[in-house]
Amino acid sequence: MSFSADALRKGGNRNGHGSVARAVVDHRLERRALINEYRRGRLARDQLCDAHPELIRAAKNVGAPSSVTCPICEVVKLVLVTYVFGPRLPAHGRCVTTKADLAQFEGRTDDLDAYVVEACVNCRWHHLLRVLPLGGKPAPPAAALT
Ligand SMILES: [Zn+2]
Repeated sequence: MSFSADALRKGGNRNGHGSVARAVVDHRLERRALINEYRRGRLARDQLCDAHPELIRAAKNVGAPSSVTCPICEVVKLVLVTYVFGPRLPAHGRCVTTKADLAQFEGRTDDLDAYVVEACVNCRWHHLLRVLPLGGKPAPPAAALT
């Protein structure tokens, strides 16, 4: 299984990427629904805790600690990892670790998407929290000197 934007989404939730207006897509409601299903015993832990090894590695190495305890194992705090996807970036995205990196992507003319994912390095729960549009800046006007 190769790592891609799809690896960050739960199966069956592939709403046409790029088909809607570029706006922040928030997945918190879906997160709550998944956790409720788990607590009711309708979803098994291995259906939820299946983070791609690449995501877990990024979470361990470059993830930003959060103050939120993992909703599934309730043992450790979740870690946030941000990936940027878009033209001229690797298919597996670019893992962004600093605000300066993010600012650099924001200044690009390409339409990019930042995927903010939470991950648990203990039980491998992961959830795509938000997709934020990045970049898409108009190209600087060509010098109109005559
Ligand atoms: Zn956990």
